[in-house]
Amino acid sequence: AETPADEGVLAGLPSGNLNEAESKALFARFGVPVTREHAAADEAEAAAAAARLGGEVVLKILSRAIAHKSDIGGVRVGLTAAQVPDACSAMLESLRRAGAPVPEGFLVQERIRGGVEMILGFHRDPQLGPVILLGAGGVAAELFQDTTLRLLPIARDDAEAMVDELKAARLLRGYRGAPPADIDALVDAVMAFAAMAGAAGDRLLEAEINPLFVLPEGQGARAVDGLAVLR
Ligand code: ADP
Ligand code: MG
Repeated sequence: AETPADEGVLAGLPSGNLNEAESKALFARFGVPVTREHAAADEAEAAAAAARLGGEVVLKILSRAIAHKSDIGGVRVGLTAAQVPDACSAMLESLRRAGAPVPEGFLVQERIRGGVEMILGFHRDPQLGPVILLGAGGVAAELFQDTTLRLLPIARDDAEAMVDELKAARLLRGYRGAPPADIDALVDAVMAFAAMAGAAGDRLLEAEINPLFVLPEGQGARAVDGLAVLR
């Protein structure tokens, strides 16, 4: 039988969906850059976390049971610390109305501005095996189905080729006066995510970063959302 000691990086983590904070903490251990953030148990802790982060923050519901937070009013972008307590109450009320289970708490994180939104995913294809997916994120993802896949493991060359295959490569290189995005940081993030998937072993069923913000050249990339699903 499998003991916790056999589970490596997934030791102590429950089966099913991890929440955003747990998922991103897992990704960050392998070098995926993630937002600065704090989990909070209640409104007061959330407000204190926002004050500690400074500037405008993003407030999210923290729940293993809710994979699509914005569908039920669980994401508020661009709040001051003073606005956080009321936003927390409103969020809980919206959850109650949706009949969602009681959440673990709140997640307060820095607001990321600018850049190109991408999707980075991992799943186990029944035919191919463990694959990594890179695609355009946000509205573009829904409109254009702009994605590419590779069987794991991958080399850096493969990650670079994945970027080149996307229509979004034009956006990343700086389209119509927009600054070029940090493509090196995107490739680093793909490699780190692939390393995470390789190291996690059989218990990792799926993982996704949607979106990954790729900031202007020299400013890196940031995972603002994360989801890992464990056996
Ligand atoms: P969902 O569970 O609905 O996918 P996300 O965490 O992805 O929730 O948030 C929804 C959207 O809000 C994102 O696609 C992104 O556009 C925006 N967003 C989320 N977090 C941040 C952040 N830290 N900074 C800036 N925008 C954000
Ligand atoms: Mg998301």
